[in-house]
Amino acid sequence: MKHRVAIVGAGVSGLTCGVIFAERGYRTAIFAKETGQQTTSGAAAALWFPYDAEPLAKVIPRALETYRTLIDLIRNQDSGVSMIELRQFSRMDEILVPHWAIPLGARAISPSVMSSKATAKTAASREGLKISLKMFKSGFSLRVPLMDTTIYLDYLANRFIAAGGSIAADTYFKQLEDIDSKFDLLINCAGVGARELVGDADVESHRGQVAIVPRISGLPYAVVCDDAPLMYAIPRRNDCVFGGTNDLSNDLAADPAITAQLVSECARALNIENPNVLAERVGLRPFRKSGVRVERTSVADGRVVIHNYGHGGSGFTLSWGCAQAVFELATDRAASSGPYVSAMH
Ligand SMILES: Cc1cc2nc3c(=O)[nH]c(=O)nc-3n(C[C@H](O)[C@H](O)[C@H](O)COP(=O)(O)OP(=O)(O)OC[C@H]3O[C@@H](n4cnc5c(N)ncnc54)[C@H](O)[C@@H]3O)c2cc1C
Repeated sequence: MKHRVAIVGAGVSGLTCGVIFAERGYRTAIFAKETGQQTTSGAAAALWFPYDAEPLAKVIPRALETYRTLIDLIRNQDSGVSMIELRQFSRMDEILVPHWAIPLGARAISPSVMSSKATAKTAASREGLKISLKMFKSGFSLRVPLMDTTIYLDYLANRFIAAGGSIAADTYFKQLEDIDSKFDLLINCAGVGARELVGDADVESHRGQVAIVPRISGLPYAVVCDDAPLMYAIPRRNDCVFGGTNDLSNDLAADPAITAQLVSECARALNIENPNVLAERVGLRPFRKSGVRVERTSVADGRVVIHNYGHGGSGFTLSWGCAQAVFELATDRAASSGPYVSAMH
């Protein structure tokens, strides 16, 4: 008989697992304290790119698996997934094209592109924006999937419900054992909430704050710079996300001084006037010091639990690869006879 599945968490990890189980005929329910835009997932930018998640050697294969699934979703206009050129820069160092990005078509950005004369010929400047990339020393460019979270999270939730799943919002569990005993398979996608839910002291909140500004005419690509201060400008269908920050903190309140700083840094990079701020968003990236946890264990009453949390700044980037690994751990006969740890752990 097929398991009855309870998933804790309605962020991108919980919803993606929900879709995989429900579409394969499992009776699946999602329980979550927060849903949709209230979750960390709702605050994300969210570009496909491995960032702030460990260990890289295990993150990359799951990220590439997710990349392939997202490419398929682009054909569905309702998904909120599109392709965008990502230009990743460094202000200080010679940035190398990562080896895993080369088969995806990544290439170094020539130094001439970062001089003002060369940028004068770009599509961006033809449309009226004179992007000055002079502050950057080197960069590379790569086409990647972009998930517009204002559309994509609803798309996943609707797809899950259409496959027979249910979502119970405003539901908080102190421990996994509190989940109704009619569910015999538990999936833990609690993000930073896993720290309390399963007492995992390895989970840290890497706080990120962003500002949502109006669409910037003539900005056709995402600009990202990981050296301090972290800076990114990511154009979406209806607006643009300016970031960002990454600090060890649990504070979910937006700090207007931080918003002002990040908006002026982005405006400086793009060589534009400071735009109006439409909204400020804060999220807690669920970073796990010992690595993303995709692992099969059991709870005190003997029920099987598959953990899927600790994705840090890569929850979207890893979502389909990790959800597939969760499904394999849940259904692998070899796994059901004893503890089984996936390659991710
Ligand atoms: C500013 C910012 C920018 C980002 N940009 C990107 C990006 O470009 N690309 C990318 O891949 N990632 C990005 N991330 C990271 C990404 O947002 C996270 O990795 C991802 O959202 C984690 O998803 P999740 O579903 O695991 O957790 P969450 O989205 O945090 O969801 C956790 C869920 O569990 C529920 N929950 C927790 N504890 C309990 C409990 N005890 N009982 C019931 N429910 C519980 C919560 O209510 C919520 O529904 C960014 C993050 C931030 C903050």
